Amino acid sequence: MQMIRVAIAGHGNLGRGVEAAIAKNPDMQLVGIYSRRAPEQIQPLHAGTAIHAMETLVGHTDRIDVLILCGGSKEDLPEQGPQLAALFNTVDSFDTHARIPEYFAAVNAPALAHRKTALISAGWDPGMFSVNRVMGEALLPDGATYTFWGRGLSQGHSDAIRRVPGVAAGVQYTLPVPQAVDKVRSGARPSLATREKHTRECFVVLNAGADAQAVRQAIVTMPHYFDEYDTAVNFITAEELRQNHSAMPHGGFVIRSGNTTDAHTQVIEYGLKLESNPEFTASVLVAYARAVHRLQQMGQFGAKTVFDVPPGLLSAKSAEQLRAEQL
Ligand code: NAP
Repeated sequence: MQMIRVAIAGHGNLGRGVEAAIAKNPDMQLVGIYSRRAPEQIQPLHAGTAIHAMETLVGHTDRIDVLILCGGSKEDLPEQGPQLAALFNTVDSFDTHARIPEYFAAVNAPALAHRKTALISAGWDPGMFSVNRVMGEALLPDGATYTFWGRGLSQGHSDAIRRVPGVAAGVQYTLPVPQAVDKVRSGARPSLATREKHTRECFVVLNAGADAQAVRQAIVTMPHYFDEYDTAVNFITAEELRQNHSAMPHGGFVIRSGNTTDAHTQVIEYGLKLESNPEFTASVLVAYARAVHRLQQMGQFGAKTVFDVPPGLLSAKSAEQLRAEQL
């Protein structure tokens, strides 16, 4: 079997997830982890994995078939994505939805100029949820699409509550409202306000002497993050936080309901229940790395998104095998 040589750029939650995912794909080989931090600060899952400084990537272009970018969407990818797409075939999980068109353009130009293939914004949302939104709309043009997230830990909202004066630590979960999900599943096509679709639940550790009531008020009224939602704030100890809230679960549903005739309603549902958001996201990135390697071999250069990749290219199986087993 011709192994696909994969490397990881950035070793946080997602980078660790990519290591685990590569180990589950026998046609993939992890050839190195590249980080901006000193090698002794990086602990790979498997002893023996080569750790390199990020600056050395430029000299390693002939060792790597696909580089999986695991940096953060806010600060890292806007810089690393375009730079590295000039040198490598890449996959990333850029998830700032409003800035995807701008990011696509920034990655597309260097990738095209250097005949590289760069798949942006893979993962589950954006990613698998995006594919299902497009499929739903295309198959049921007379309909409505709903995305529900949760129950899941939101990194952005957890960061926001940690910045509230008096808060020592905390996490935030997003939960879909069950009545809203049921209504959508019935095919009723309701119009739902933000508050009717999701609730938010916070688990907060206070600093010694902090005023719990003032902290609660600051959280539930925080503009953009909480003011449009019903939010429950629970105060817990640091020990409870460590014991019960260290995992990173997430998930949700994309539901399309529509009518093919006035007499018939059709409902399509795609759901994810993830015990680990970064590990699942990483599994998606690794499958798309296989597709990127194949697109590159077919001469398809430039930036791509999940909408541009035929599903068969994600599979380790051949087209013949897929036709025989899965069609
Ligand atoms: P993270 O753990 O914060 O890691 C981001 C980067 O920070 C790493 O690549 C690493 O780069 C650096 N880093 C990690 N741990 C560090 C530490 N202890 N000290 C200093 N630097 C450290 O973020 P993540 O959870 O892996 O998530 C990465 C991105 O994935 C998120 O920003 C999000 O946009 C995206 N995401 C997308 C989806 C989707 O569905 N599309 C889902 C989940 C996440 P170096 O090794 O170079 O230092």
